[in-house]
Amino acid sequence: MPQKFYSTKSPGQFVDLKEAVLRSLPSDNGLYMPEYIDPLPAHFWENWRDLSLPEIGFEVAKMIFRDSVPEKQLEKIVHQSANFPAPLVTLKEREHILELFHGPTLAFKDFGARFMARLMGWLTREDEGLLTVLVATSGDTGGAVASAFHNVPGTRVVILYPKGKVSDLQEKQLTTLGGNITSLEVDGTFDDCQRLVKSTFLKREMAEDLNLTSANSINISRLVPQSFYYFEAARKLPLGVQPTFVIPSGNFGNLTAGLLAEKLGLEVERFVAATNRNDVIPTYLQEGEYRPRPSVATISNAMDVGAPSNFARMEDIFGNEWKSMRARVAGFSYDDQMTREAIRRIKVETGYTLEPHGAVGWLAAEEWRKLNPEAHTVVLETAHPAKFLDVMEEELGEGAVAVPERLGCLANLEKVAIPMAPDEEVFVEWLRSMG
Ligand SMILES: *Cc1c(COP(=O)(O)O)cnc(C)c1O
Repeated sequence: MPQKFYSTKSPGQFVDLKEAVLRSLPSDNGLYMPEYIDPLPAHFWENWRDLSLPEIGFEVAKMIFRDSVPEKQLEKIVHQSANFPAPLVTLKEREHILELFHGPTLAFKDFGARFMARLMGWLTREDEGLLTVLVATSGDTGGAVASAFHNVPGTRVVILYPKGKVSDLQEKQLTTLGGNITSLEVDGTFDDCQRLVKSTFLKREMAEDLNLTSANSINISRLVPQSFYYFEAARKLPLGVQPTFVIPSGNFGNLTAGLLAEKLGLEVERFVAATNRNDVIPTYLQEGEYRPRPSVATISNAMDVGAPSNFARMEDIFGNEWKSMRARVAGFSYDDQMTREAIRRIKVETGYTLEPHGAVGWLAAEEWRKLNPEAHTVVLETAHPAKFLDVMEEELGEGAVAVPERLGCLANLEKVAIPMAPDEEVFVEWLRSMG
């Protein structure tokens, strides 16, 4: 049977995989969830610790997508997308780091974006015309999406980024691929970019005419591949050890993917959410009241989120019961000064270089281990330190972080971007003229 997807706001109504993935967001503003998330079958658990990351990914994806994608096809999509490692580094007994930054753009978002690109390519293989993917970015997401869709047949990507508000290397990641990737340098803020993207989806007819879709982080197809690496980490721990996963969080997609892994049968001791000063969810876990608010800027900027978009999925998973969520998920938050101090101290104590997001996670792991000395903590390191060179050099000194070849070589490539006014009419006109 194919999988069906419901909106968290209309649990009785279902759409198929293609609609859930290409529409991304249901019209009632809920989020899509799979109808069935069953534990993996007995034969999986017989030898799961011997499987590779893509082999585990294939079994997981099969459980979620069911017959919505033919097995051979799904296997190919998983193997082509999860084609870089997620090493587990043990710093001390019981203290582990799961490195998720070995993909082409050096952040965990590569897992989700690469899978989504290939799945979208397959879902639209018989459609007429190109699929046009719109993405507004404040930095990391655009690079991962651009790299993932580059040269995927039948697709093209339009990236909107705020002029002068992304780092030089980030801008190079957005503007040097060429081919089916087009970048618009918007004379405005990230919010302007997001507004322009949204405005096109409100014009339903045009969106359909132009075959538009969106690659934002609430897309269910970005979430599923992020559950693969929870299994990958767990299988490498000593037999019988249940991990406590510590997850630096912003929109809580990564944490929600962990909850999916648990629903698929993975034994997890606890989930610990680590945030910067944008602590809406740690506060919710403590007090039981969800109060979104405008985000504040921090040095762990990929977590500067004031209204975490995956909260609706977390609530859905826990049956809208605060107590149930609180029993499985703990939350801690740290400010920039504590984060900077942690980057320096951890380097001295262990020799390991954590970037700001991972450092927030490490602080939460330390706090958790104080309360639970028996815990085996696995901190998800979500990006490579070279992506946050300014902060790293302020704390550890110049040259403390080697820039990987695939980031460094971008510096010499020429930026190609089209200037765009922050104006909905102008943007829509431009889109139409693309044909
Ligand atoms: C996107 C991102 C996060 C936050 O992940 P969510 O799934 O939104 O919680 C954390 N760290 C880095 C480096 C990111 O790019």
